[in-house]
Amino acid sequence: MFLTNTNIVTDALLGVAVGDALGVPAEFVSRELRDERPVVDMRAYGTHNQPAGTWSDDTSLTLCLADMLCGSFSLEALAGNFINWQQHGLFTARGHVFDIGIATSQAIHRLRTGTPPTLAGGADEYSNGNGSLMRILPLVFYTRQMTIEERFRYTRNVSSLTHRHIRSVIACFIYLEYARLLLDGVEKHAALHQLQDSLPAFLITCEGVTEEELNRFHRILALRVGRYDPSPPLAQLPRGEIYSDGYVLHTLEASLWCLLNTATYAEAVLTAVNMGSDTDTTAAVTGGLAGILYGANSIPPEWLAVLARRSYIEELAGRMYTAVSKL
Ligand SMILES: [Mg+2]
Repeated sequence: MFLTNTNIVTDALLGVAVGDALGVPAEFVSRELRDERPVVDMRAYGTHNQPAGTWSDDTSLTLCLADMLCGSFSLEALAGNFINWQQHGLFTARGHVFDIGIATSQAIHRLRTGTPPTLAGGADEYSNGNGSLMRILPLVFYTRQMTIEERFRYTRNVSSLTHRHIRSVIACFIYLEYARLLLDGVEKHAALHQLQDSLPAFLITCEGVTEEELNRFHRILALRVGRYDPSPPLAQLPRGEIYSDGYVLHTLEASLWCLLNTATYAEAVLTAVNMGSDTDTTAAVTGGLAGILYGANSIPPEWLAVLARRSYIEELAGRMYTAVSKL
């Protein structure tokens, strides 16, 4: 499949992969250093010493989910893909794993030793890194016709393989609900307003969602917390108040902020990378949304030209598109 014949799954998967690959050479570099020497193009080597266009665990685990969704929905099959990725280098850019989060590594160990998928992820408050958010996007194509209750249940189950604390689940759910509105053609600012109007009342009815937990998302959902006024709209917050570390809430906030404050795919993902710190994941999460919003045809061709396994990603996206089109 070539880009002249692109589809919405290709838009999302290439969006994730290109953002991830832009961020890989710059991972863990501080924002201060990044400001002195911004990333403007696909670089080679750097943090993980990989050739230009090499994507990381974010994309690998996203492809694991996309692959599972080509067949019958199965959390066991998804767990099998995760294990094959970590153990045998399947779904990697260049045959080996060079980047894996601690929570994901521990969860895959539990999956390998027989823990059921929905119980494999860490459940404590400190297990809220961005490791399930970064890989969840393909699920939107499978769940978009379902009821909101079903969409939440599927999101919880897919997140739980590696991250089952309710905060990670809510973050994944908000991300997918936002992507779903973009797929429906809703304008990007209006989409966030729709979520602010509809999601809090639903989420508070979900098992495990407390008011305190929901309030963690007050900057995204424009919630009034206690006697304080709501924060300014997320898009209007200064860059200095947006964090780009590996905490799931920060990654979701930063990605929405990058998307809302830019006008092209390239601008959105470069803004994410140049926030520093967890650059590959912030850019992958941003890139998935930007891919859907602007289309894969808007990704700079020179970036796609060096993207590792581009034709495999496009072929997988084509298969998944065919599968979800039958739903
Ligand atoms: Mg990574």
